[in-house]
Amino acid sequence: MTFLITAGPTREFIDPVRFISNRSTGKMGFALAEAAAEKHGVILIAGPVALPTPPGAKRVDVTTALEMLEQVLHYLPVSDVLVMCAAVADWRPKQTSPVKLKKRDTAPLLELEPNPDILASVKPLKGKRTFIGFAAETGDPEVEARRKLAVKGLDMIVANDVSQPDAGFEVDTNRVRLITPDSDQSLPLMSKLETARRIIDWAEKR
Ligand code: C5P
Repeated sequence: MTFLITAGPTREFIDPVRFISNRSTGKMGFALAEAAAEKHGVILIAGPVALPTPPGAKRVDVTTALEMLEQVLHYLPVSDVLVMCAAVADWRPKQTSPVKLKKRDTAPLLELEPNPDILASVKPLKGKRTFIGFAAETGDPEVEARRKLAVKGLDMIVANDVSQPDAGFEVDTNRVRLITPDSDQSLPLMSKLETARRIIDWAEKR
């Protein structure tokens, strides 16, 4: 089997040195790539993160959401499972200045436009593939996670409450719920690698 895994944040540029991004460090996505590469082929599409490539994974580095979409579209045909773990920036500046904006000028008013939803964009190409998404919410993730599972046409959504200090962004542990159209399993606090193995096991058995 071949797993296509996205990880990390994306950066959306205001000018050549400034960008909009988010707190994702890529740890969960890289743990998924490490767990999957123990038994399968892995293509890891990584936003800007400071992590080593897991042994056996083919890594493709991207910066913006549009670049990530392009690479997902490129590698989807040779993949059996898509795991969208990346924290794709929801918006990008409508205009990116080709030159550094000067501090002495008036502070810029940023006009944003939405990035494409990668999962929604590849939904028509799903075929028999397994699609897994993530829902990082603050507070009880259930309602939003179930909505995203349905709207994005996913086989599983991994929901977590990122307001907890030991789960979500920047830490090595996670406490997630694996929600499918007909099951709901809460995993205890465990390492991201252990969490990743559970998700990969599920995809394998499907
Ligand atoms: O809607 P929300 O961003 O919370 O959904 C999270 C899921 O959707 C994640 O799996 C994420 O990788 C994916 N996503 C996407 N394209 C976006 C934003 C999020 O595929 N532009």
